[in-house]
Amino acid sequence: MMDGIPVRRALRRLQRMALERRASPFDADALRCPAMVFAPHPDDETLGCGGTILQKRRVGATVRIVCLTDGASSHPDLLTHDELKAVRAREVRGAAKVLGVEEKDLFLLGFPDRELDACREAAVARVAELLWRHRPEQLFVPYARGEHLDHVSTNHIVREAVARVGLPVTLLEYAVWAWRHWPMVGLRGTRRSLLAGAVSTRMGLWMAREFRTKVLIRDVLAQKRAALALHASQMERRDAEPRWHTLEDVDGGEFLPCFFEDYELYRRIDISAR
Ligand SMILES: [Zn+2]
Repeated sequence: MMDGIPVRRALRRLQRMALERRASPFDADALRCPAMVFAPHPDDETLGCGGTILQKRRVGATVRIVCLTDGASSHPDLLTHDELKAVRAREVRGAAKVLGVEEKDLFLLGFPDRELDACREAAVARVAELLWRHRPEQLFVPYARGEHLDHVSTNHIVREAVARVGLPVTLLEYAVWAWRHWPMVGLRGTRRSLLAGAVSTRMGLWMAREFRTKVLIRDVLAQKRAALALHASQMERRDAEPRWHTLEDVDGGEFLPCFFEDYELYRRIDISAR
């Protein structure tokens, strides 16, 4: 696998440009549509669609954010469960405010981090109730391929709730961990085998085929960064503790820039009424 860093960075730029060029932009109606953003963990709302939330709020669209888990397992050996739970709830409240989302429009469902699938039935019921009560027309959910378990579960839970409620919606799937594919990031950390390379590269092909909707976020990047910075437990190493991992550490710093390009990209799926 060709992984000379300058060559890969050039390929990364080309792949990103190709993705952005092929995608269709949100039109004015899509931007104004009332939306609900589903985040498996506090910080996914900002990483995956922070720029889009800002652009939608700018034109007066209603945006509600739903965090499914409490995020209390991100640093299990360094803070207690209750401490982390409180920290992450405080952080997402701050980030939502920067994104223009009022506290009354932020819902922390508090299911246990890394164990969302075990609470699936209760989560579907809570999400269906929120959909029924607020009638959002656009739902932002994590992509179901190449993502962590809670992200895949969130996708399945929201789809199940949509089927139960039977209202027409547009799903917009956003990638978080699926961006960790070659050539977006190097193959460090994973075994540099041919198989790992092939699987990783294939993720990029799937995304190229499926991510065909884009929202221009260039003019709100500073606010998106400011919102993410408020997720300080994920962004800053506490007390110089080497075991305190941050998003900057992922893939030698190559992961985080995937979220600060000119566009946020989505896989769009229209679901008609039952
Ligand atoms: Zn997450």
